[in-house]
Amino acid sequence: TTLVDDVTARLRDVPDFPKPGIIFKDITPVLADPRLFGRVITAMSAPFRGQHITKVVGIEARGFLLGAPIALALHAGFVPARKPGKLPYRSVVERYSLEYGADGLELHEDALQQGERVLIVDDVLATGGTAEASSRLVKKLGGDLVGYSFLINLDFLGGAKRLGPDKVTSLLTF
Ligand code: 5GP
Repeated sequence: TTLVDDVTARLRDVPDFPKPGIIFKDITPVLADPRLFGRVITAMSAPFRGQHITKVVGIEARGFLLGAPIALALHAGFVPARKPGKLPYRSVVERYSLEYGADGLELHEDALQQGERVLIVDDVLATGGTAEASSRLVKKLGGDLVGYSFLINLDFLGGAKRLGPDKVTSLLTF
């Protein structure tokens, strides 16, 4: 069986989470299977091998779970992009709007050196607002955004178009 088939079989659709009307893609069964988890990390890293990535930025919280092993696979460092108020040291912030309300993400101000080659990682690309805010943080610190690696692209929501389709990679597309 293919990796796409095996991941699809393990993803769990949870209706009405976190709000009525939303069908949430639960990736925890994928992470719990050691062989499948390893194959996912290898596949999500593959497009960026040989691209001289120096930092992987993982987006809170599921982007940490995928981003940290991808960083190790690419021999890159790992940088967490966190919700406001969580990082201990001086930080830069970018706000973004959600369907209802607004949110933000922060990076430590010294998390990237000028010209570092950066890969942004998250589990799911939906509207692209979260990943776009992360890309603005990378640019703010002088990083060179090489691309994005997602496990799942909910393409009908238009996120890849918003981020620049040539930079977006994903294992599964719905
Ligand atoms: P966006 O900003 O692209 O609209 O939303 C993407 C963010 O919401 C990501 O951080 C992602 O983890 C989370 N997200 C949105 N929908 C889902 C979903 O169905 N499943 C999971 N696991 N995360 C989701």
